Amino acid sequence: MKNSKHLILSLLFVLTSSCAYFETEEETQTVNPPAEAKTVPAPTPHNTHAQPAAHTPAHSSGHAAIHSTEPAQALQWLKNGNTRFKKSRFRNDGAAIKDVVRLTKGQAPHSIVLSCSDSRVPPEVIFDQKLGEIFTVRTAGQVIEPSAIASMEYAVEHLGTRNLVVMGHTNCGAVKAAFGTLDGTDAGSDNLNKLVHDIHPRIEKFKGAQPSAHFEKEGWANVQGIIQDISLRSKILGAKIKSGEIKIQPALYHLDTGIVEFK
Ligand SMILES: [Zn+2]
Repeated sequence: MKNSKHLILSLLFVLTSSCAYFETEEETQTVNPPAEAKTVPAPTPHNTHAQPAAHTPAHSSGHAAIHSTEPAQALQWLKNGNTRFKKSRFRNDGAAIKDVVRLTKGQAPHSIVLSCSDSRVPPEVIFDQKLGEIFTVRTAGQVIEPSAIASMEYAVEHLGTRNLVVMGHTNCGAVKAAFGTLDGTDAGSDNLNKLVHDIHPRIEKFKGAQPSAHFEKEGWANVQGIIQDISLRSKILGAKIKSGEIKIQPALYHLDTGIVEFK
């Protein structure tokens, strides 16, 4: 009798512990909404062509000409993705383990996105893009130091990517810092000084003026200046932009609406 009582108490303890465990799991899922929120969107005027998951190149380092996506198609996929992001209607394909396995053969991203490191502007999220689909290069203020340029050259030369988006954003901290140091103020470190000095020529015309709302005009000026500088600083990219082999697209992300504005 004593033994069976002990057994019942033990069982009760195990059951109680299990319930506590499952409750914890449910709470975790409540905090992090589960996958059902990610549904395939119905066709919209901006999403009439469904985007296939990234195709797998035949070779691990295929030549540019073999697997390239047309820049206009790539740009449309990004626009469609931003529309889905705004509506919180995300794709539910392209990010499973089967995609991880499929992409072990190689990658052929349809777009390069050069953007700011700001935690609020991850290109994969705001364009609803999945594994193997976009090649992202991120630095504060999307400043193009040699390593950033080399990364873009690699994607163009070795992965066949032909659509290049240079995306700034409103209220960019790097642009604000550059604006605030146009008078020669120290930015705080040698490296930060190099960063703001790279931006300075692009926003020089705003020196002494009141900043625009959300630093939008300064942000656009930085983007347009970067596009010019990419051609000046990279023979590879400059030649391909000039020939039309790659398209370069200015864009600005609005932190308050989630909208990516293209020009
Ligand atoms: Zn920024």
